[in-house]
Amino acid sequence: MSDIFIWSEIEELRKKIKEYDLAYYRDSNSKISDYEYDQLFKKLKDLEKQYPEFKESDSPTEKITSDISNEKSAVIPHKKRMYSLGNTYSMEELKAALNRISKENDSVLPELICELKIDGFSINLYYEDGNLIYASTRGDGFEGEDVTQNIKELKSIPQKINFKGKIEIRGEIFLPIAAFEKINKLREKNGETLFANPRNVAAGSIKLKDSKLFAERNLTATMYTIGIAEGINIKSQEELFEFLKNNGFSISNFSQKVNSFEEIKNYCDKWEKQRSELSFEIDGVVIKVNSFELQEKIGYTAKNPKWAFAYKFKAEEKYTKLLGATFQVGRTGAITPVAHLQPVFISGSTVSRATLHNSDEIKRLDLHLNDTVKIIKSGEIIPKIIEVDKTKRVPNSEKVRFPKVCPSCGSVLEREPEGVIYYCNNINCPAQLKRKVEHFVSRDTMDIDGLGESLVSKLIDKKLIEKIEDIYNLDYQKIVSLDKLAEKSVENLKIAIEKSKNQPLHKVLFGLGIRFVGAKTSKILADYFKSIDRIKNATYEELLDIEEIGEKIAESVVNFFKSETNIQTLEKLKEVGVKFEYIESEKTKISGKTFLITGTLKNYKRNEIKNMIERLGGKILSSVSKNLDFLIVGEKPGSKLSKAQKIPSIKIINEEEFKELVD
Ligand SMILES: [Zn+2]
Repeated sequence: MSDIFIWSEIEELRKKIKEYDLAYYRDSNSKISDYEYDQLFKKLKDLEKQYPEFKESDSPTEKITSDISNEKSAVIPHKKRMYSLGNTYSMEELKAALNRISKENDSVLPELICELKIDGFSINLYYEDGNLIYASTRGDGFEGEDVTQNIKELKSIPQKINFKGKIEIRGEIFLPIAAFEKINKLREKNGETLFANPRNVAAGSIKLKDSKLFAERNLTATMYTIGIAEGINIKSQEELFEFLKNNGFSISNFSQKVNSFEEIKNYCDKWEKQRSELSFEIDGVVIKVNSFELQEKIGYTAKNPKWAFAYKFKAEEKYTKLLGATFQVGRTGAITPVAHLQPVFISGSTVSRATLHNSDEIKRLDLHLNDTVKIIKSGEIIPKIIEVDKTKRVPNSEKVRFPKVCPSCGSVLEREPEGVIYYCNNINCPAQLKRKVEHFVSRDTMDIDGLGESLVSKLIDKKLIEKIEDIYNLDYQKIVSLDKLAEKSVENLKIAIEKSKNQPLHKVLFGLGIRFVGAKTSKILADYFKSIDRIKNATYEELLDIEEIGEKIAESVVNFFKSETNIQTLEKLKEVGVKFEYIESEKTKISGKTFLITGTLKNYKRNEIKNMIERLGGKILSSVSKNLDFLIVGEKPGSKLSKAQKIPSIKIINEEEFKELVD
C-alpha cells in the first residue's frame, strides 16, 4: 500500500472513532457495539504503530475524548489526572502485557488484582475534612463536568467520611439490571424511547439538571481507585479497598488477588461464563498491579496506565433465520418493529425476537423474509440484528417494509418531526383506546370520578366504548350487570360524566391526548385561541407565532386535526355538550388587573410572564403608581419594591402567590 492510502485509511479511522466517541460520551448513544468499536480502535493503533510517521497527538489513541457536554458546562479540574484503561479481547495480548509488566519487576510477575469491569460511567469524588466537596465526570482526564448535585442523591456515596485529609475517590456509577428493566417498562408505558442498556442510563442520567429525576433512576456506585491522597499512605489496591470499605464506600465483592497468568485466565473465563448470573452488567475484567509503588514505577502512556488494563468479553454473535416482522402499536401510538427469529441461544438465554428500532434501521439492513441474519447481544437486553448474510438470501423473498398505515386502525402514520418514530394519532385507535380513555377521564383532564382503570378496561373489552365519545352515551343498564355496580355508584358515575361537560377548555384539550401537548401547552393554546375550532383551523405558521410553541408541537397539532376520525369525535363531543369555548370565568382573577415585576424570577423568563399576564387579560405597567394592582417580587428586587411599599393599595406578591393567582 502506498503512503497516501495508509494515511487516508488512518484519517478515516480517526474520523469514525471520534464520531462514535462523541455519540458515546456526550449523547450516551452507542452507534456500534463495543466490540466493533474496539476493533476499529485496535486497527488504528496497529497502523499508527506500524507507520509512526503518521502519529498525531490529536489522534483518539493519544487522548481521551471529553464527556463534557458543552462550553457552558461547569467544569472542575482534577487534582490528579484521570486515565482510561487500555483493553484487549485476546488472551495472547493479555499475556504480552503481563510480560511487559514483569520486566519492570525483575522479570517476576508481581502480585495483581482482578476486578470485574462494570459497564457504567466514571466519576471523581473529592473529600476534604471528611466532607464530600464536589463530584465530577472524567471529562478529558484533566477536568470534568460538575455533577455534585446529582451525586449527592446517591445513597451508595457517603457525604461524610471518617478520613479528614484531602482525597479524590474514583469509581463508576451504574444501574443494576432490575432497575434498568423497571425504568424501561415505565418509559414504554409513557411512550418514551427505551434505553438500549444500563450503561446508557448511567451516562444519560448523570448530567440531568433535575436531581429528583436523577434520584428516581436508582443508580448505584462502586469505587475502586484514588487520585490525590494527602495525609495517608495507602500502599496497595488491597489496602485501598480496606480504606474504602472503612469509610463507607461500596466496593466490589468479586475482586481477587492473583499471582499467575493461569489464575488470571481462570478468573476471566469464570466470569465470562457467569456474567449473566450477576445482578449488574459487566463487559470484562480489569487486571491491575497491586502495589502502588510499582504502579508509579511502571507509569503511564499519554492516555492509559501501563500497570492496568481491561480484558474485555466479546459480545456473542449468532446467525439465525428471520421468520417475520411485526409492527406493534405502543400504548402511545408509536409503531415499534419487531423481528421474529428462529429461536437461538445467545449470551445466556434463548431469544426469538429482536428489535428493529425504526424504519431507518429496516432500510439500512435491507431485510427480506427468510434472510439469514447475524444477531448480537452486547449490553442490550433484547438482541439486535446487525447484518444480513445476503449470499444466503432465498430468491424472490419478500422485502420487509415499514407500514404506511397503522396496523391496528388503518390510519395514515405520521413521522415524528426530526425523529425516526412513526406514530398513529387516531384518538380512537383500538390499540391505544384504553390508554386514551384513561387519560381522557383522569383528574387533570375531564375528571370523571368512578371511571377507573378496570372499569374502562371492561367497557372497552365489552365494546361499550369503541370511541371516546361513547363515554357520553353509555348504556348504564349494561354497566350495572357487567360490573355488579351498586345503583348508587352508577348514579354517581352518571353525575360525574354529566359534570365533566363543564370542564374548562384547556382540560378538554389536554384530554384529547395530542402528542407533545401536555397540561401546560394545552393551557397556552386554550388561552391563546379560546376555542377548539380555532385551534383546529390554525395553520402551522400561526401556531409557531406563539412564543412557547415550537415546531414539534405545531406539527403535531396540525397533524392531529388532519385526521378525519379525530374531527368526527370532536364533533360528537361538541354535540353532547363538552365545552369547546373559553369560559369567561377562566380569566376572572387577573383580567383587567395591572402588574409590574421586579427582581429575578426563578420559574419564569421576563418575556414569558409578561406574555402570560397579557394573555390572561392583565396589563403590564412601566412604573410604580397608584394604578398598579400587583407587584411581583423576585430575588434581589430593585427600587420598585420600596416605592410600592409606600402605596397601600398595591398588593406585593412573590412568584408562588402569582402562580396561585393564575392557576
Ligand atoms: Zn391506529
